[in-house]
Amino acid sequence: MDLKNRISVIQGDITKIAVDAIVNAANTSLMGGGGVDGAIHRAGGPQILDECRDIIARQGKCNTGEAVITKAGKLPADYVIHTVGPVWNGEKHNEGKLLASCYRNSLEIASNKGIKIISFPNISTGIYHFPKQEAAEIALKTVTDFLSGSDAIHKVIFVCYDEENFSIYSKLIGT
Ligand code: ADP
Repeated sequence: MDLKNRISVIQGDITKIAVDAIVNAANTSLMGGGGVDGAIHRAGGPQILDECRDIIARQGKCNTGEAVITKAGKLPADYVIHTVGPVWNGEKHNEGKLLASCYRNSLEIASNKGIKIISFPNISTGIYHFPKQEAAEIALKTVTDFLSGSDAIHKVIFVCYDEENFSIYSKLIGT
């Protein structure tokens, strides 16, 4: 499959996207929060939080760069993959590597579940202040590398909420 047709970008609200899985930019507690995390829990209803609570009870907090999966409650997607992005601190704490891990681990979980179409928000570029251009380059490189090594996931859609991210991704993808 042509790699170019497997990656796309749209501007919008990820809670409205009917795909196999959407990714949530969560925090280590998995208990919801602001930004996209709050929007996903609000729109998906309490089933998502219940499952997150069970996960935390089983394995403890979700570390930065890691990912876990729940069903999607009332959302149009089937699953939510919750990953914890790094808080930007001036690349003092491996933030770039940790951000790449978020994308890679989310894709890994998705392919193990047989998920074919997955949507990502722009992890860490909101409240966590990761520079948007750099975050987009890391996201695209990590996704491209993963897709070129496996046909398990057919399509990755980047859902940009803000105009700035949408313009950055559109330029990088060449649409
Ligand atoms: P983080 O703490 O990882 O920075 P945020 O939720 O604050 O998480 O922001 C991550 C990205 O999600 C930002 O680019 C923000 O514009 C975007 N975002 C916020 N709400 C939504 C939404 N409903 N759908 C898609 N993206 C969203």
